[in-house]
Amino acid sequence: MKTLPKFFLPVLILLVTCMCACDCKNVPAPQPVHPDPVEPQNTVISLYLQPYNDFPEEQMAHVHQDVQNCLDTLIPELEFVVYRYENEELPDYCWYPPRSRYRADSILLYQLRMDDEKYIMGVLSEDISVTSDNIKDWGVLGFGLQPGTSAVVSTFRVKNKSLFYKVIVHEFLHNLGLDHCSQNDRSCYMCDADKRPRLELEVQLCPVCKAELLRLME
Ligand SMILES: [Zn+2]
Ligand SMILES: [Zn+2]
Repeated sequence: MKTLPKFFLPVLILLVTCMCACDCKNVPAPQPVHPDPVEPQNTVISLYLQPYNDFPEEQMAHVHQDVQNCLDTLIPELEFVVYRYENEELPDYCWYPPRSRYRADSILLYQLRMDDEKYIMGVLSEDISVTSDNIKDWGVLGFGLQPGTSAVVSTFRVKNKSLFYKVIVHEFLHNLGLDHCSQNDRSCYMCDADKRPRLELEVQLCPVCKAELLRLME
């Protein structure tokens, strides 16, 4: 008669034990002692565009889309949502009669009084101005707090209107705390270039500005 291999009996006992153990129904699955940590959610940064007076609806629709696309492409590490309000009339006190244009600083204050928690970007086709160094009333493309929640931009001085969205992105990045490009890189959206921006050359946020923005947004 053949003898069974020596290891047969222990294996058989183990098998029967396992079958008994697995026969129990409705045994709850063991729970992890420490639950999985919750994945950190990306914070959404919302920007609200506020067209003023007779700013054309069709142009505003393009600007809205262009700003959203630009932020998504330029800074994919952060999540942005761009909203658009209906047109509003600017109050008379923002008007500067001696030069027949609006004061950008007055518009910033007006917006802060309306809502100082949302990032609001006023959008105009009329000229805007600020006091700059020794010049009492200096025409500008845009003006924004740095950091802050209020900014204003105008198409008045922008030759190629299809690039106007770049002015909005520049002022919005000031609002988020970003200064002018320390590299003076003309391809960078934050380049000041002696206050004469060449919008057609601005195609990126240079690595130094990008790193600084991400640090500010941590
Ligand atoms: Zn600037
Ligand atoms: Zn830069």
